[in-house]
Amino acid sequence: MSIADNINKIKAEIPATVILVAVSKTKSNKEILEAYHAGQRIFGENKIQEMTQKWSELPKDIEWHMIGHVQRNKVKYMAAYVGLVHGVDSLKLLKEINKQAKKEQRVISCLLQMHIAEEETKFGFDGDELKALIDSRVLQELEHIQIKGLMGMATFTDNTSQIQKEFKTLKATYEAIKKDLPGITILSMGMSGDFPIAIEEGSTMVRIGSSIFGARNKT
Ligand SMILES: *Cc1c(COP(=O)(O)O)cnc(C)c1O
Repeated sequence: MSIADNINKIKAEIPATVILVAVSKTKSNKEILEAYHAGQRIFGENKIQEMTQKWSELPKDIEWHMIGHVQRNKVKYMAAYVGLVHGVDSLKLLKEINKQAKKEQRVISCLLQMHIAEEETKFGFDGDELKALIDSRVLQELEHIQIKGLMGMATFTDNTSQIQKEFKTLKATYEAIKKDLPGITILSMGMSGDFPIAIEEGSTMVRIGSSIFGARNKT
């Protein structure tokens, strides 16, 4: 199956209201353009330098999402163009994004990443930290940031009931936070291996790489 076939197949499987982010990390401009010509306009990358290079070379109507862990000293390279930052996991990072967005006279859309998986290696706030951040009202002072919702990654496991449980936790937190931040609309959860479960549990945005582009080239 071609990249275009894969995109069409996934689009047929997800509701029209769920936004598809095509995760193109490690993939070439040629492969990205194949997806682009199939109508895909939102691409996700996990390294700022790689994303910036692709942004500079590829059509300007592509919306670039930063889905990986963000190093604060690299925010400046994407501040001029990034469409959505999924992996915001500290107030320090939010402040840096705000500062760089201000320099660009932009408001940058961000998702707060919540830690829902068992693995220690997955970044993010826990529920209490999220609540404390929102109660502190500091988000309202960051005028060049707009919080659009939450992002999370489930444990990498075959145990579907565990994945389901983790996505339920994220969805419940999203609904709780919506009371304080009524403008939020994005719940970013679900990857190639678990997006059907994520959608059942209320995902509004899925991040899919290998099911579109095939297995990733090792870096
Ligand atoms: C790589 C990556 C994905 C896509 O993973 P696939 O399993 O290839 O679909 C989604 N989200 C994040 C944060 C990633 O780093």
